[in-house]
Amino acid sequence: MKYKDGKYLQVCGFILCGIEFYGRLNQIYCSPQCKQAHNNRKTSRVNRLANGADTKIRKAIRIMMRLFKPDEEGKMVISMVVLAYNAFPFDLPTTLIKDDRCSGELYSFGLFSFYRDGENFIFYKTQ
Ligand SMILES: [Zn+2]
Repeated sequence: MKYKDGKYLQVCGFILCGIEFYGRLNQIYCSPQCKQAHNNRKTSRVNRLANGADTKIRKAIRIMMRLFKPDEEGKMVISMVVLAYNAFPFDLPTTLIKDDRCSGELYSFGLFSFYRDGENFIFYKTQ
């Protein structure tokens, strides 16, 4: 390994850069920009693996913020047609939770949860 003025000749760890530079032995990138660029690429890989999960949840929450009008029991009955009309992402990732209100299970995302009853969906909101 080449050595000059207390620094070592290395190759930048950001694959799209790859230039040689002199740096400390534990320095991986030639510049803070390359370090940031490398981390950004890592993030986009995570997004790809998430397969739009986060996007779908946020979309569903945006739709519910607009549509959700609870009755006196705190629930809202909405037909599948209306949800489809509003481009609700039915394939959004949800967490299954136990709930007494429908004597069964609710699919939850964010502060919202729902279950299907025939052609209708019953929505609840926490708080
Ligand atoms: Zn670099």
